[in-house]
Amino acid sequence: MDLLPIFLDIKHEPCLVVGGGPIALRKLDNLRRAGARVRLVSPALVPELARRVDEDMDINWVQRRFEDEDLLDVRLAVAATDDRQVNRHIAALAKAAKVPVNVADQPEDCNFIMPSVIDRSPVVVAVSTGTASPVLARMIRARLESLVPAGYGRLAELCARYRDRVKARFEHQRDRRRFWDHVLQGGVAERVFSGQMQEADAAMERELAAGDNPSALGEVYLVGAGPGDPDLLTFRALRLMQQADVVVYDRLVAKPIIDMVRRDAEHIYVGKERNKHTMRQEEINKLMARLAKQGHRVLRLKGGDPFIFGRGGEEIDTLAAEGVPFQVVPGITAANGCACYAGIPLTHRDFAQSVTFVTGHLKDNTINLNWAQLAQPNQTIVFYMGLVGLPVIVDQLIAHGVSPDMPVALVQQGTTHMQKVYAGTLATILSRIEEDPPEPPTLIIVGEVVTLREKLDWFTTIPDREQGATTPVLPED
Ligand code: SAH
Repeated sequence: MDLLPIFLDIKHEPCLVVGGGPIALRKLDNLRRAGARVRLVSPALVPELARRVDEDMDINWVQRRFEDEDLLDVRLAVAATDDRQVNRHIAALAKAAKVPVNVADQPEDCNFIMPSVIDRSPVVVAVSTGTASPVLARMIRARLESLVPAGYGRLAELCARYRDRVKARFEHQRDRRRFWDHVLQGGVAERVFSGQMQEADAAMERELAAGDNPSALGEVYLVGAGPGDPDLLTFRALRLMQQADVVVYDRLVAKPIIDMVRRDAEHIYVGKERNKHTMRQEEINKLMARLAKQGHRVLRLKGGDPFIFGRGGEEIDTLAAEGVPFQVVPGITAANGCACYAGIPLTHRDFAQSVTFVTGHLKDNTINLNWAQLAQPNQTIVFYMGLVGLPVIVDQLIAHGVSPDMPVALVQQGTTHMQKVYAGTLATILSRIEEDPPEPPTLIIVGEVVTLREKLDWFTTIPDREQGATTPVLPED
């Protein structure tokens, strides 16, 4: 290790920044965030720095060039002028006075560096590549940002608040550690991450009361997995996927996403194919409640968003009734994913002032929708589960006055490398797909906005089944 990583307490301590440009600004901001009092020496300041000086009483601007006496009594120094000789002079003086010094862009003159920081105060993660590559440090930082939930600061505060009580409750350090392990990876932490601080405190009290017999109650995570591309998962979805004990999933969740669930989690497949439901909805609801009551962290993975044609409401209804804790994580719904990846903005100033998501599910050869309303101009309509009912959709829209020339797009397996878009009009779309019928899941978009695709299409894939694509062909729900 070339450098010793330490976290320095500089609250109310005098620190020196020499320079008036953007780098000085960045360094000054870091020092201020840690509570230092800053002496800022520079004949002139960029406007943003000048604004800081105006607003912040703890910055004392000395309006002139650096003089040796500026270093008197400072705790640490930053040289960030655009003159290398001046910077070097400051560094030499500081070192002689045993004041730690950082010089912008002159690593050879520094004796400390400021790392890239992930700030979840009081949790702080600092990344340094020494002087090798600040860009690399920033890249690593960006990756960590996605791994460290924003709520870690709140979680650390909660730990601090309960520390003494936990100490009093458990005599042995080993028991305390086990307790914190349980708390930090379970329901208490999850509530903190989703900002439910009162519930987190209540759960913490329960855990403390339970003592050596930590609560047996698990919880359910109802998680939207998006339309197919794993890159479209949310950070929270991924985190819960990696800490679940059991995953309950159906056909609409793409294989590459299932593969990202914790390896040793138990996988329970509950099917759901058109006319071939492997497990009835009520059974699924009961199964989840039972698993959670046995103490498992149950991940219910849903295609797209759980609250859009996903029966998410029904599933958590049962959980709520049975007192099982749960949380819901939104996902990118098929309409958003498919529209973006097909180059079709769902609204547009000139063509559509609203967008409606409807189910095109065919039952007894009809689709129960308000067709007169759907036939109104200047809107976009998105049909989920509409592939089988497409002839009915076409008939009904035309019968209610929509022009046969109204553009239509079918997006098959949107956002995946198997995506295929069929474009046409109400009059042509059925014959367009006769030769080469699309496969489920397919989303139907009707509206003038479909024509924008000619210009805006950016994600074109040519599905090539012969080459052994990995995305499964999913049936219509
Ligand atoms: N909760 C899901 C929708 C479930 S209903 C969501 O928010 O997206 C199932 C229907 O969604 C399918 O019949 C199909 O119309 C649509 N769908 C889901 N994923 C899709 C995809 N990747 N490409 C095209 N359509 C999709």
